[in-house]
Amino acid sequence: MSQLLADTWKRQRPPYKGDAPTTPTYDDGVFNIIWRHKPTFVNYPKAHVTVCVGDKDTGKGMTLDGMADKHMSFNHIVFMAQGAHDNEDLAILRDPLVQLMKKRVLILTGDSTEVHQYREPEMHFTFDQKPISRLTMGDMYNYDLILNVFKFYVSTEEYYDKMRPVLKRLYEKGEFYDRMLYLKIGEAAEILNQNVQTYAETNMVRTILTNVFKQSRHIGISLGVATQRWEDVQKGARLMGDYYLIKALGMTELIGARFDKLWSYFTADWLESMESNELCFMSDRGSVGRGTVYPANGLGLMKDKISWHKEENESIMKFLGLEAIERKEHLEPQLDIELSDDPENDQKHKKIIEFYMVKNPDGSWRSMSQVETLTNIGHSIVQREITLVHDTKVEIAGVCDICARTGGSYQDAKVRRNRSEAAKRTT
Ligand SMILES: [Zn+2]
Repeated sequence: MSQLLADTWKRQRPPYKGDAPTTPTYDDGVFNIIWRHKPTFVNYPKAHVTVCVGDKDTGKGMTLDGMADKHMSFNHIVFMAQGAHDNEDLAILRDPLVQLMKKRVLILTGDSTEVHQYREPEMHFTFDQKPISRLTMGDMYNYDLILNVFKFYVSTEEYYDKMRPVLKRLYEKGEFYDRMLYLKIGEAAEILNQNVQTYAETNMVRTILTNVFKQSRHIGISLGVATQRWEDVQKGARLMGDYYLIKALGMTELIGARFDKLWSYFTADWLESMESNELCFMSDRGSVGRGTVYPANGLGLMKDKISWHKEENESIMKFLGLEAIERKEHLEPQLDIELSDDPENDQKHKKIIEFYMVKNPDGSWRSMSQVETLTNIGHSIVQREITLVHDTKVEIAGVCDICARTGGSYQDAKVRRNRSEAAKRTT
């Protein structure tokens, strides 16, 4: 069903005119590319990381929205986790797919705000709402489209303060093996810079973002991340991309010449001045091409050429008949999310870590699969608790709070590193 929809969604477009028509082309309904080197395709059903780089107002949001649309057609969960201040992410509610596939929509809010629909919009959609501080992993299964925009928070500070822990939980607890999640981060640098004061906070946020980058693929998350400044995304993380979508570049990026390869294919003139629907497409396998991007316009349901994406200066809130109002009921402050975790899971975590740090009679370390057999806990959980949860906590905070509150023996040691260092000492 979803493949059928994905195919019908594909819209015939004339090939991009920018290059000679003899070169191989690619059109998946989102991207229309003419290759210069190593033709490739976007493998939507496989978890991937897409990095979109470009100057202000060059259509980075639209580019990642096009991918969101495609993921929805494959019935993946789409989570617009961080967007621009103009709330453009809400525009996806008028994507005809939302109605056609009866997507279950969740709009996230701050603790003292509610979403109010004051009139029925032209395009019908229904939604649930929830303060982001109450978002559970279960919601990831119960909804198809999760939206998190500035409008429903009292301040930018609240928006970032409440969103960062959610990103952290996504890679710590995320496990979407039977259903992929597409996570859109509209401006990665803002997550690093907004309302971050101390060195420790900066470090914490950086680690969260780096881990989202590094781990997303392994836990079935496809990440679409946009950034204005390439430099702001940490070195290790920014080279993790499968696809790089380059929009019009600012002077700093051009002078920095960080995309060496681009220079042998395109002129600086074009890179600086491309239209908002143009882009340069590169992959980690060395593919290079250029072309256009359009989120689908829904088989003519919307005006020709104009997609569901928000127009400049358009009030998307007004179009949808939505407004933010003060929450009527008082919300009790949420307990620390980590503390509200299930004590039974805490015990499981402790057991996994301790079983992993025991040696076999022959002096070799226990493998993860031995730990699985001995504890009777599944492979993905064992791997996640050791590598993602425990070691990440130790890296971020210097201590694993789960091991600390359950009296575990390795609360301040990264277990994987510890084992390899111990092995070095004995040889
Ligand atoms: Zn631990």
